[in-house]
Parts: sequence; structure tokens; C-alpha cells
Amino acid sequence: MLYADLNTELVRKYNRPVPRYTSYPTVPFWNNDMTPERWKGFFVRRFHEQNHTDGMSIYIHLPFCESLCTYCGCNKKITTNHKVEEEYLLAIEKEWRLYRKLMRQTPVIRELHLGGGTPTFFSSRNLKRLIETILKGTITHPQHEFSIEGHPNNTTKEHLKMLYSLGFKRISYGVQDNDPEVQRVINRIQPFENVKAAIENARSAGFTSVNFDLIYGLPFQTKESIQRTINQVISLRPDRIAFYSYAHVPWTSKAQRLFDETNLPNAEEKLELYLKGKEMLLGNGYFDIGMDHFSLPDDDLYKAYMNGRLHRNFMGYTTQNSGLLLGLGVSSISDVGYAFAQNHKTVHDYYAAINSGQLATYRGYELNEEDIAFRKYILDISCKGTTVFEKKDMELLHLYVFPELENLAADELIVWNTEGIKLTAKGRYFIRNVCAAFDLKLYGNSDPKKMFSKAV
Ligand code: SF4
Repeated sequence: MLYADLNTELVRKYNRPVPRYTSYPTVPFWNNDMTPERWKGFFVRRFHEQNHTDGMSIYIHLPFCESLCTYCGCNKKITTNHKVEEEYLLAIEKEWRLYRKLMRQTPVIRELHLGGGTPTFFSSRNLKRLIETILKGTITHPQHEFSIEGHPNNTTKEHLKMLYSLGFKRISYGVQDNDPEVQRVINRIQPFENVKAAIENARSAGFTSVNFDLIYGLPFQTKESIQRTINQVISLRPDRIAFYSYAHVPWTSKAQRLFDETNLPNAEEKLELYLKGKEMLLGNGYFDIGMDHFSLPDDDLYKAYMNGRLHRNFMGYTTQNSGLLLGLGVSSISDVGYAFAQNHKTVHDYYAAINSGQLATYRGYELNEEDIAFRKYILDISCKGTTVFEKKDMELLHLYVFPELENLAADELIVWNTEGIKLTAKGRYFIRNVCAAFDLKLYGNSDPKKMFSKAV
């Protein structure tokens, strides 16, 4: 697919804020009815339904970073004071104990992911203590996957050795862009030597899957600079590459207001950056597995995609779908399949809840049958590129979705009939727009603030 095939008019038409669909309904549509007591009921029910068969996934949010990257939309706290580590670990340990009291069986841990913020802000000794506390008295699932997000500037050999010894085999590094001018304006100075050392150290420690996050659409990025970044990245052969679109949401992310908007690429330039990057990745042995993600063919993510086992949740694409994701730490999100819950978003409120012996839940959402049905359509499209309609949903599909599918089909983004839909090669560039056709919450709602959320 060439840029010429994606004409400017089409690019303009679909260049609108659309959610990433790491959940459905998306976070802006959740409410404050999910009290800690109510959430406990959902958690206990789900845990006992499936712990002994599928196990559970745990996400731990570690929010501290030493400096602020100005593009960042994550929940983070900037500090160079490492004394914060102790108080935060104590709170996570207390929160885990609150959950353990609700479990009448030994938990089976299938997936453990440390995200941030910057998990490698924490010393190796403190991370070890955290992981050992979580794993103590649990059973590790035979198909477990333990992973961490590392910063190339501060992930040490000691971190990697310790993590590997505790069962971690996957690491994701935030690379973003290697161009010095881009790095200066986003305030993320990260020499390529650091990135190179980070992946080499991970491999030497035994890690079998390394992901790099890259971003296109940042200030001062050009086709040439993206080309240089990707050439360097490809030379290191990370197993997975997430090539994200920069989301300019200054009303939510204050630091983005520091950007001079005239330095940002416009919609067509941004698509050119993406197409250049994608062309280079595909030409160098990577496969497009869905929304912004590329993988080498021997990586599990690609195998899961080929076998139809790919799943998507708050951690992005994953090969595991335990059906129960428990989020620990500030702003973390939990998902039990029929309900979501999110913890308080400030460290202050999170500590206050946990130290009073309460779960830190402050909002969430209980899915009804309609939500569950339409979530499946969105998940199918983002993970498999195709979905099949259920008879029971026909009324809603006819009323809302089918007119939109006609438009998408007219632009050759999908092929469809009343049985189901499939993305075309062109449609893969607009996969989120296709998912959005199934987002019943968006019909009659054009508020751009509902399109993006600072989830974690
Ligand atoms: S991008 Fe990562 S390291 Fe930078 S401020 Fe955000 S969470 Fe911290």
C-alpha cells in the first residue's frame, strides 16, 4: 500500500481523535458508582470462577520518573528523591494483602507486568522485594509471562539479572525517537548507545523478548529523521516494535502545552511518517499484527496473532487472556470481564485509602450484555481484523453500526455483509476508526475529551 493509495482527502476524513480501545467502554464513560465494597463483590466472584483454571494477571503501576518527557500522557510523578520508593512499596504490599484476604484459594499467577511511570526508577533490591512479596504463597502458572517496562537510561545489569532470576523474560523499552533535536524538545535525552546497551544487556541476562516503543507525530520529526531512527532500531532487532501515534491532547496533558504546535507534523505529514516507518519495518522482516504493533515471526505475539489467540487489554496486546486482570498501585485498572475498576489517580489519595485499610477503587463500570457484545466486536477487529455478527445484536447493528459500515466500505476500508466484516489492506491504516463504528457510546457524542483518557 502506497501513500498515493491513501489519498489526502481520505486521510483528512479519518484524522480525528479515536480511542485506542484498550477497554470497551472506554475510561471516559466510566462512573463513580464503583465503590470499593461493590468492586470487592465483582473481584471475589471472578477470582473464584477462574483462578484454579486460568489463573490471574497482575499489573503493578510504579509511577515515579526522574524527569518529565513533555509528550507523556501517563500517570506519573516526577521526583529525584528515591526515598519515595519505600512508602510506595509498603502501600502496594498492603493493597495486595487486602486482596489476598478476599481469596479463599492460593492465587495462580499467570501474568505479572510492572508498568509506569518508570519501574526501573526503583532499585533492583526494592523491585526484588516487591516481586517476592507478590509471589510469596502463590502458584506460578505453567504458561506464565512476567514482563517489565524499562527506561534505557536507568535499567541496569543488576535489574535485569534479578528480574530474570524471578521469571521475567520480557522487557519493553521506551525508545520513542533517536533524533537529538526531537529528544531535546520532548525532554528525553537518550543517546543511542544507551538503547543499544539496554537491549544487549537484556539479551545477555536471558530475556527472550524485547519490545521497543516508538512514536511518530512528535515535534520536528521528518521522514528523514524517522528513517534514521528506524534504521538504528532495526539494526538492534527488537522482537516487537510498538509504533504509536503521538496523541496531542493538551487539555489533558499539561506538559504538551509546552510544544509550539507549528512544529508538529500535520495530518498528512504524520501519515507519511507512519507509512515510511511501516514500510521499513515490513521490509525488514517485521509483521503488522494490529493497532500500531509489529513483531518478528518467531515472537509469541506474532504466533498468537496467527493462531487467533491475540488479546488486548490495558497493557496493550498480549498473548494471555486470563479473564481476570488485577491492577495494583496508583491509577491502576482492574478488569474482571463484566466490570472494570480504577484506583485513585493521585499518590496522596491512593495512600489515604490503603492506609485506612480500604481498597483504593474510585471509579469503574459494570458492563451490561450490550457492552459485552460490542466489546467482543471491537476486540475481534483489533486482534484479528475480522468479526462475525450475532443475531441477538441485529437491531442495534442495523440502527447504529451498519450505516457507518456502508461509509467505511465506500472508502474501501472494509468488506462486509450482514454476517460480519473484514478489514481491507487499506482499512488496516484506519483500524481504530473501524473499531469506533462499533462504539455505541460515541453515537451522538462528539466531545473530543471523550476520545482520549489518561487511563494509567
Ligand atoms: S514517558 Fe515514561 S519516563 Fe517519560 S515522563 Fe512519561 S512515564 Fe515517565
